[in-house]
Amino acid sequence: MAEQEIYYEMLWDCAQCNTKGLLGDSHRHCPTCGAAQDPSKRYFPKEGEEVEARNHKFVGADWSCAYCSSPNSRAAAHCTNCGAGQDGTKPVAIVVDTAMPPAVSVAAPAPAARSLGWLRWALAALALVVVGFIFLFTSTKDTTATVAQRTWAREIQIEQMARVSDTAWCDILPADAYSVTRHREQRSTRQVADGQTCHDERIDKGDGTFVKRRECTPRYRAEPVYDDRCRYQVNRWRSVRTLKADTQNALMPVWPTVSNLNANFLGAGVGGGMGALGSEREGARRENYVLTLASGGKTWTCNVSETVWNKYEQGSTTPLKVRLTGGADCDSLK
Ligand SMILES: [Zn+2]
Ligand SMILES: [Zn+2]
Repeated sequence: MAEQEIYYEMLWDCAQCNTKGLLGDSHRHCPTCGAAQDPSKRYFPKEGEEVEARNHKFVGADWSCAYCSSPNSRAAAHCTNCGAGQDGTKPVAIVVDTAMPPAVSVAAPAPAARSLGWLRWALAALALVVVGFIFLFTSTKDTTATVAQRTWAREIQIEQMARVSDTAWCDILPADAYSVTRHREQRSTRQVADGQTCHDERIDKGDGTFVKRRECTPRYRAEPVYDDRCRYQVNRWRSVRTLKADTQNALMPVWPTVSNLNANFLGAGVGGGMGALGSEREGARRENYVLTLASGGKTWTCNVSETVWNKYEQGSTTPLKVRLTGGADCDSLK
């Protein structure tokens, strides 16, 4: 593999006569003034201005003359500039290519170094505010209130079996779906290998030349993944109306009368099973009980349980805890 490599000339500038762009392999001495090449000043040429080092045989990095610092081929036993021997010399420094754009690194935002003094005061102030709010919302004063009004309301949802249209991925279709039609639709994307991205890396051989090495990384592209999408119909219970009863119907709470349900009701299955289209059943029930309390020109309304509601007669008096913010503590009614 190394035999097939193409060698390119490194460049150097003559420090003595200021001639620029001299060739690292061909110009061991400055052709203008004859000064010896300084191997520590070698650099890579600009992209596109690279000169091939023809008939170059790589025999190893240059050795630097201990007496005159001239670079000499590894094959040369003596310095071509001053004739000194190779003994006690060391190879020249290898240059790293800085022409390539360095990897962009985004620094994490440095944690701001701040004094904790103000933070301590802020926390203390916050704690004070929290304690203040807790005091405001929890502390109460006792008062005696009259039960001014007692109201209740109860309701029953009536549900009907209805035809519902919907769509879903065909592999997660409800078991009772019917009138199913299919079509193709994009469900996701997947990453597919799509060749390579390559660039040439330049490596200093240390003898006035460099070689190129191709560095490649795999490239990917997103590809849509299609699947079967189903349009279907199912029969489902849907709330269609609400039966209501409240204080205007009766003094004591009663549930509204359920009547005139669709005739298919019995066949529908009370437990929520499948029924014929149009059949009806009872759905969810809701109830609420409200006490209105009055004292010194103020009134409060409390939502309570049916048990508590039953204990308080119209016109009776009861102790009531009132918060500093003005609201009644309805939990004090038991
Ligand atoms: Zn020169
Ligand atoms: Zn020398």
